[in-house]
Amino acid sequence: MAELPPHVAAALRRLPAPACAYLYDRSALRAQVARLRSALPRGTTILYAVKANGHPAVVQTLAAECDGLEVASGGELDLAVRAGARRIVFGGPGKTDAELIAAAQAGALLNVESVFELRRLAGLGVRADVCLRVNRDSVAVTGSHAMTGAPTPFGIDENQLGAVFDALPAGLTVTGFHLHAVSNNLDGTAHAAFLRDAISWSAQVAPRYGVTLRVVNAGGGLGVDHTSAASIDLAPLSQVAVPAGVELILEPGRYLAADAGWYAAEVLDLKTTHGRTFAVLRGGTHHFRLPAAWGYSHPFTVLPVDAWDRPYPRPEVAGTPVDAVGELCTPRDVLTRGQHVDALRVGDLLVFGRTGAYGWDISHHDFLRHPPPDFIIL
Ligand SMILES: *Cc1c(COP(=O)(O)O)cnc(C)c1O
Repeated sequence: MAELPPHVAAALRRLPAPACAYLYDRSALRAQVARLRSALPRGTTILYAVKANGHPAVVQTLAAECDGLEVASGGELDLAVRAGARRIVFGGPGKTDAELIAAAQAGALLNVESVFELRRLAGLGVRADVCLRVNRDSVAVTGSHAMTGAPTPFGIDENQLGAVFDALPAGLTVTGFHLHAVSNNLDGTAHAAFLRDAISWSAQVAPRYGVTLRVVNAGGGLGVDHTSAASIDLAPLSQVAVPAGVELILEPGRYLAADAGWYAAEVLDLKTTHGRTFAVLRGGTHHFRLPAAWGYSHPFTVLPVDAWDRPYPRPEVAGTPVDAVGELCTPRDVLTRGQHVDALRVGDLLVFGRTGAYGWDISHHDFLRHPPPDFIIL
């Protein structure tokens, strides 16, 4: 796991007790965009996928740093407009009429996910360039959530494209394809192959339907390993050739936001029952659900807090594995199982790195009605 940067530790030490907070570091967001941009083929469009972290400060920072934002709901669209995004791409399998109208009014490029959605757009009087999201027959890419080459609610089956173009309503012009297919891919060589394949497939298919190909949107999926410091190796991506006149769009969420976030929670109690030691936190999966959702142990760093002003002894453990669990009344409220600690006391903080993406945003905040964490923006 990455070391806790001193400026992050200092900010967490200033939290009021009992400490519980997400900290988002804008300089880390900017650095990550720069790292990605320098690794991609020149001219590649980078749109931050807002669903990874919709905190307005994060969205604003990434709207300024990236070429634009990818949104998938009316709420995210509002955030993107307010953040001053230069470009907005709007996708998602279930768009309401109100969302389609708002997206068109905001000048967003729509990723259309079904034939019926095309008809609804035309029925609403929208005249615009659109991309079709396609669920291809097969895609050679590894990652945690395959969304294509299998029955899913996302996109239009590749085999139905002929019928779609036969019935394409007047006023809508297809300029390209959206082919988001994977989440959290840690294999850079495989991702480069996926991009090449997305480009060559699009270039082959477009003329078949009279499309002048201008956009190939390969979606997100650049991975970070939440259990270590490893991330996808971006080097192979720079070798991908993009034909003249075609815009390659990527929509990374996790890769841009994960390392800019830290979740910190104070140890409220320490106990050993039936041979297992538990650190009970002021916090838990209602703030940070990812490890429970994905079934892994999220590593933490101990931030020692030496002050102790109580008249009774301070519980502590040393040289032992502990389970980091939350304050919820359910045995599933577990962030980490069996991580070794040299020393841990009630009142110390556990700090979970790489929590800037799919952390707070995917968690069930209202379960048990504990107060939310603080949010610190650096
Ligand atoms: C979720 C999503 C993304 C972002 O995915 P990451 O794995 O966070 O990079 C991009 N595009 C679409 C269409 C998505 O659904």
